[in-house]
Amino acid sequence: MHPQKPLLNYINGEWSTSKATEFLDVVNPATTSILSLVPLSPKDELDTAATAAAAAFVNWRRTPPTQRVQYLFKLKSLLEDNLEDLAHTITLECGKTLAESKGEWHRAIENVEVACGIPTLMQGYNLEDIARGIDEIMIRQPVGVTAVISPFNFPGMIPFWFFPYAIACGNTVIIKPSEKVPLTMQKVFELLEATALPQGVINLVNGAKEVVDAILEHPSIRAISFVGSSPVAHYVYSQGAAHGKRVQCQGGAKNPIIILPDADLEMTTRIAADSAFGCAGQRCLAASLAVTVAEARHSFTEAIASAAQTRVVGYGLDEGVQMGPVITHQSQVRIEQLIEQGTQEGAQVLVDGRGARIPGYERGNFIRPTVLQNVNPKSTIAHDEVFGPVLGLMHVETIEEAIALVNSSKWGNMACLFTSSGAAARQFRYQAEAGNIGINIGVAAPMAFFPFSGWKDSFYGDLHGQGRQAVEFFTQTKVVVERWPQYWSRQF
Ligand code: NAD
Repeated sequence: MHPQKPLLNYINGEWSTSKATEFLDVVNPATTSILSLVPLSPKDELDTAATAAAAAFVNWRRTPPTQRVQYLFKLKSLLEDNLEDLAHTITLECGKTLAESKGEWHRAIENVEVACGIPTLMQGYNLEDIARGIDEIMIRQPVGVTAVISPFNFPGMIPFWFFPYAIACGNTVIIKPSEKVPLTMQKVFELLEATALPQGVINLVNGAKEVVDAILEHPSIRAISFVGSSPVAHYVYSQGAAHGKRVQCQGGAKNPIIILPDADLEMTTRIAADSAFGCAGQRCLAASLAVTVAEARHSFTEAIASAAQTRVVGYGLDEGVQMGPVITHQSQVRIEQLIEQGTQEGAQVLVDGRGARIPGYERGNFIRPTVLQNVNPKSTIAHDEVFGPVLGLMHVETIEEAIALVNSSKWGNMACLFTSSGAAARQFRYQAEAGNIGINIGVAAPMAFFPFSGWKDSFYGDLHGQGRQAVEFFTQTKVVVERWPQYWSRQF
């Protein structure tokens, strides 16, 4: 990695220098030092990658699944052997703490493990004698060339929600990482190269909108997996579909957590603080609004304010740090403006994290944990995604009101309830309109063998990433009806 040397693309089994004329600095958000340069690759480089992936598909789909997963077994070992270095890279470019970066890799590896089950996961089904002497068989076949477009906040894990399944199913893949955090995928592709996957099976094209638009339009690309903000998710979904592709797009969020009076206060506060302030609030499963019910109000308000004030903020590589910076200076400014707007629209600042200066990292994009109380349900901060370490507090008197508040949202990524009542938990699980539900859990992130769900404006599409739904997304079904006349009248 050299600050002046542009990062490379990886196309058809080879590292290649982009012919880009525009480059962006890759910046360490804690120190603001420049780590590298990322090329904004032109459209024709995506075309070269798609052509290579289409050529590779011919033999890759014929490679037996039991052999395809051998490359994933190798990848899993390589990821484990290089975990420290991979985690260090995420912290460098993304800012989260080293422990958070390691956690991200454990989730990534879990997806490789699940995809290794493809010889059984990909099986179809059949029925003999649907009519006398006629059998019917459903088989799954790969869709072809696929593309993954990822956001900045999980540069390691998110591509793994998709590509291990895609290649295990016999597809070929192009990955376009976020231009803000492209270093992590350089490292991953070094490991992919070391697995000796056949050339063209997996390709890396760095860039931004021009590459995304080229993916949306390219006739060889059959399926697109996108994760990012909802406006871009909607754009990718509608444009991808208009070009006849299957598309799955995970978008933004505004996640509420509900605290009932019978919740364990100590546990709830610890979990709520981790959810709201972990990864500096830059998680699509971050708690953004805490809704207290009845007498939970005062005890929780006091406890969460204290948790926010005592959280250790700093450089993610330093010992003892619990929260890093936000990704860019623009992000920091946007978040601080949203806090200000929240107060203008009725909220009071209980803990103010604005203007944070971290000794030794004065230029970093830091905001300390912030808590707003009495958030006006009609205000911007009650509805817009903040994607920063800001928790808004609201209050209602009953669980029904709390659920109504959850369901009034246009978002549907996650909703959580803290309680010791099984009946309340059941009511919440049944009625809350969100794709990921937590009961006494603050970040309801599904394990790799469950789909990463998401409803409403938090997801556009049908099949989600991870597990069986990923296998369905990356395969197309074919139904075969067979008759063999010579056996019609025979007795066996
Ligand atoms: P983003 O939408 O800005 O970027 C995501 C990807 O889209 C990047 O690769 C980027 O290059 C590309 N892109 C950006 N603008 C584009 C445009 N106009 N046209 C075409 N492509 C474009 O998102 P981000 O800031 O990198 O990530 C944060 C967002 O991602 C948040 O909204 C967060 O909630 C969401 N997210 C969602 C999930 C989920 O599972 N639902 C997970 C992680 C992050």
